[in-house]
Amino acid sequence: MRIILLGAPGSGKGTVAEDLRSAYGFPKISTGDLLRAAVRERTPLGLKAEAQMGKGGLVDDATVLALLGERLAREDCRDGYTLDGFPRNIAQAESLEALGAPGPEVVFDLQVGEDVILRRLTNRRTCPSCEAIYHVINKPPKKDDVCDVCGTALVQRADDRPEVIAERLKTHREKTEPLIARYAAKGTLHRIDGGLTPAAIFAEVKKILDAVMGEIGSSRGRG
Ligand code: AMP
Repeated sequence: MRIILLGAPGSGKGTVAEDLRSAYGFPKISTGDLLRAAVRERTPLGLKAEAQMGKGGLVDDATVLALLGERLAREDCRDGYTLDGFPRNIAQAESLEALGAPGPEVVFDLQVGEDVILRRLTNRRTCPSCEAIYHVINKPPKKDDVCDVCGTALVQRADDRPEVIAERLKTHREKTEPLIARYAAKGTLHRIDGGLTPAAIFAEVKKILDAVMGEIGSSRGRG
C-alpha cells in the first residue's frame, strides 16, 4: 500500500501520517523531515537544500529523490508506507511511478483554507529532534516549550515565519496543486476536509482506507 498525502503546508499531513503509523504500522516518510535531518547533519545534500528551504521554494528534484530513494530502500518500507510531502510536483510524481509501488496507491488531499493554514503555522511548534508537532493553543506540550516525547526544547521552524509561509503557499498553488487533477484522473484521489478536528479527519481517512483494503481482500478471495 502506497499512501500519498497531498495538501498545503499546515493542512495536517504530518498528523495523519503519524495516525496511520500507529493504526496500521505504515512508516511515515516525510521528505521535509529527511531534508531537515540532512541540514542538521551538514551532509553535502543538506547543505545544498538549506538555502532553498529557507526561502519557501522547493528543493531540487535530484536532491529530494536521492534522500527518498535511500529511505524507501529500507526494509520497513517493503509492504507499504505513507508519503508526507512527496510528490510536490509533476516530475516527482512521474519519478515515483517509475519506482514501482508496493501494492495499490491511495491519495488523500487535505483541503484547508489559507486563513486557517496561516493561523495553524504561526502557532506551530516543532521538536527539532523527533519532529513531533505541537500547537500553542490547540495542542500545547505538557511542559511549556518542551517536547512530550523526547524532552527536547521546542522551536518555531524558520519557514513557519509569516513571510516564508506566504511563499510556501504560492509554491504549493503553482507546483503541487496540479497533482490533484493527475490523481483524480487516475481514480486514486480522495478529498478530505482538513478543517475538521484531527480525530474526525483520521476517521474519514480510515473509513476510505479500510474500504480499499476490503476490496483488495475480496478480489484476492475471488481470484
Ligand atoms: P515540509 O516539512 O513538507 O513542509 O517541507 C519543508 C520544506 O522542505 C519545503 O518548503 C521545501 O523547501 C522542502 N521540501 C520538502 N519536501 C519536498 C519535496 N518533495 N520536493 C522539494 N522540496 C521539498
